[in-house]
Amino acid sequence: MQNKTAFTLRFLSLFLLFILISCSSVAPIPTATSTAITQLSTPTIPPIPASTLTPTATIVPAMERAQYTLNTTIDYDAHTVTVDETIHYPNHTGNQLNALVLAVVPNLWVDSFNLGSISIDGTPITTYSIKGQRMDIALISFLKPESALTINLQFTLALPFAEQEDPNISRPRIYGYTDRQLNLSNWYPFVVPYINGEWILHEPWYYGEHLVYDAADYEVDLKFADPATAPVVAASGFPEQQEDSIRYTISSARAFALSASREFQVSASQFGDVTVSSYYFAFNEAAGQAALQASGEAIQVFSERFGPYPHKTLSLVMGDFNDGMEYSAFFFLPRDFYSLYDGTPANYLTFVAAHETAHQWWFEQVASDQALQPWVDEALATYSERIYYEAVYPDLVSWWWTYRIDFYKPDGFVDIPVYEGQGFRTYTNAAYFQGAHFLEDLRARIGDENFFSFLQDYLAQSRGKIVTAADFFRILREHTNADYSDLIRQYFQNVY
Ligand SMILES: [Zn+2]
Repeated sequence: MQNKTAFTLRFLSLFLLFILISCSSVAPIPTATSTAITQLSTPTIPPIPASTLTPTATIVPAMERAQYTLNTTIDYDAHTVTVDETIHYPNHTGNQLNALVLAVVPNLWVDSFNLGSISIDGTPITTYSIKGQRMDIALISFLKPESALTINLQFTLALPFAEQEDPNISRPRIYGYTDRQLNLSNWYPFVVPYINGEWILHEPWYYGEHLVYDAADYEVDLKFADPATAPVVAASGFPEQQEDSIRYTISSARAFALSASREFQVSASQFGDVTVSSYYFAFNEAAGQAALQASGEAIQVFSERFGPYPHKTLSLVMGDFNDGMEYSAFFFLPRDFYSLYDGTPANYLTFVAAHETAHQWWFEQVASDQALQPWVDEALATYSERIYYEAVYPDLVSWWWTYRIDFYKPDGFVDIPVYEGQGFRTYTNAAYFQGAHFLEDLRARIGDENFFSFLQDYLAQSRGKIVTAADFFRILREHTNADYSDLIRQYFQNVY
């Protein structure tokens, strides 16, 4: 979601809030007044000419998923991160590959990504180039289907200052640091999906998300340069204390995120076999507890309605910015929703917590193309808020439709790419809110039993994969003979 350009929607409320939301599509008091777009320069690292080439592709038994090992040292006060990254990449594309494409999102910021060395199967290479967020690696020999190779990258990150007052960017950004928080999101190079002969790496956009992720296994060994002043850390994955580090592991995950602060307060609860931890700043304890409770309830509701939660932990973090965003077993909630929390479940903090928790199904387990078909996960995540309320606070369902959805008079085709939204509000009105109405109408048409058996089967068939809208409707058709073609015509610009 980081942009080489930036985008602002300013929503004035009684409190003059500055709210910008992508994943969660939330703007509490909707009097949009202005937008501003500024251009950030895109740094590039010039390609290094090919010189000595050595064999790169080794045939070894392929593992199920790519495996990422990130030995990471954070200098909290210097805002730098030193990483030794190893990627075991199995070629499950069905094609012979003579190149790899990695997303290097930190390189969208000037001087933020500094590559020290890169090797493949132990041999240093020079056959690569980095332009913007894209790293191309030429392989000297084909990587055959179902064989694997090992990439090692050593790099440092100089984190950008991420306060909204930064004149170079007017959209809240997550990657970087504030005076009380350090956030690592999309912070390591990763091999992008290869689908139908193409590497999938879309351009950033003013709002919404642009990255598409294969599922992978992660092991992150985390140290701090000064252990004596180490901050509190929230991270994707299950933590285990090592001799001089903390090791986080998570399997079949899309994106490993981390947030650190010396000011975090933490509340944790067990919901079934999942430990949910809520990280928040001082004077926000009631809201932090409420977000924890809502997320835990949502895990239970969605586990029952859709299928099991896939991880052992879930960390929810009060961002020191106004954006909600999902990662693997981890999400941020906007700062201002904590201060606006009113002690009841009828508020943005509660339904956005449910929304972000739902992304652990519709994003984390069932991934899709967030740029070209954003409705595939966002419509379901938004409608899951309704499923949360009907299970936990059924009296609030009509309030939710009125306040969350219809207040904005949603309009537009559900299946627009993020690039066609013509603005944050028209984009979310279509992909999120019309998406929720489509799912409500579909549910009424095919009945609750078929609707939920479809969602359960959609999850079961799609878990760990990247699906398309066509997959959604193919699996839906396996669960109903009802004619819903009028709903497709009403809500979609494409024919399904
Ligand atoms: Zn979302």
